[in-house]
Formats: sequence, C-alpha cells, structure tokens
Amino acid sequence: MNLILLGPPNAGKGTQAKKLFADFHIPQISTGDILRKAVADGTEMGKIAGPLMAAGQYVPDDVVIGIVKERLRQADVANGFVLDGFPRTPAQADALDKMLSGLGKHLDAVISLEVPHKTLVERGSGRRVCPADGSVYHVDQSPPKRAGFCDKCGTGLVQRPDDMPDVIEKRLQKYDAETSPLKDFYAKKGLLKSVDGVGSPDGIYEEIKAAAGKGRR
Ligand code: AMP
Repeated sequence: MNLILLGPPNAGKGTQAKKLFADFHIPQISTGDILRKAVADGTEMGKIAGPLMAAGQYVPDDVVIGIVKERLRQADVANGFVLDGFPRTPAQADALDKMLSGLGKHLDAVISLEVPHKTLVERGSGRRVCPADGSVYHVDQSPPKRAGFCDKCGTGLVQRPDDMPDVIEKRLQKYDAETSPLKDFYAKKGLLKSVDGVGSPDGIYEEIKAAAGKGRR
C-alpha cells in the first residue's frame, strides 16, 4: 500500500503514519523528521535546512526530492510506504510521479486530513517535545505527569522553534498557498480522499483505513 498523507502542519499526519506502520509495517517517510535529524547531526544538508525550517519556510525542492529518491530505493519500502510531509509543491509532486514510475510503483491513495485553522494553531502552540527521546506531549491534551519534563526519561521538554505561534501562522499560509493546490492535482488523478482530522486519533485512523480501502467490511 503506497500512500500520501496530505495535510497542514499539526493535522496529525505523523501520528497516523505511525499507526499505519504498526498495523501494516509500511514505513513512514517523513521529510520533516529526516531534515530535523540532519539539522541535529550538523550535516551540510542540515545547515541549509535549519534556518529555513526555523523560519517556517520550505527547504528547496531539489533537497527534499533527493531525500525521497534515496529513501524510496531502500528495501523496506518494497511492500509500501506512507509519505508524510512530501510532496509539498507541484514540482515535488511531478518529481514523485517520475520516481514512482521509474521504480514500477504507483500510489494507491492520497489522504487529505482536513482540520480547521484554529485547531491547527492550538495543537502546534501547545506541543512540547523531549529533546532526548523524541516523545511528544501537549500542554492541555496530553500533558506529562510532571509539567515540563519527559515522563520516560525526565529530560526538560522544549518547544520546537517552528511551533512558535508566529511561525505556525507562516507555515499555515505557506501550506494554503503552495501545498493545498496539490489536492486538485491528485483529485484529477482520482486518488484524493478527504478525511475529517478532528476527533480521536483512533477514530480518524479508522476513517483513513477505510479511505485507503483497508477498513473493516
Ligand atoms: P514537517 O515536520 O513535515 O512539518 O516539516 C518541518 C519543516 O521541514 C517544514 O516546515 C519545512 O521547513 C521542512 N520540510 C519538510 N518537508 C518538506 C518538503 N517536502 N518541502 C519543503 N520543505 C519541507
């Protein structure tokens, strides 16, 4: 099963991609996660990406296309993958089409998670992450047992620079202007399925499975 999870920042793409992996063993390909690791490791790619990410800007197409090209060639995606955060521009969507046809693969569905703007801002600005083990919390919806500290390892939680309210707004504007038009692109190919991204993560997951043709019958 080859899927794209499309949706604005904080729509829940990462959470849902992890659920799909747990059930179907199809790896999540998150360009955001790969870029964040490059920034943390201080690689050349990380040095280009870091300031752009912190400002809510997109990383250049050729950089992210290169990441996905390399990732799709790896053996663990033989039975499928979930793209999370890619493609984000028409040039990336075109490049993906070419990559997939070169590899003899095709997309089964493009799931668009629909979440109102206000909810996206609330989710993002309340998110706190553990810099040591990557655990994710939300100050209201899933707070740690001791405010400000990771339940698992006790490290002090931090706010990602791109979760600052003004940066969130910028990222949402960018999504509306540059990524949202991809919905039309995939609708014309008959691949787009819209799913309501508000509600319990498990309920949303059932909707996603149904949209991908893997729901309960
Ligand atoms: P994400 O975790 O998917 O929200 O990505 C975090 C940040 O990484 C984005 O705000 C962009 O700066 C950058 N990024 C991730 N994926 C892409 C992409 N496909 N194209 C351009 N920039 C990206």
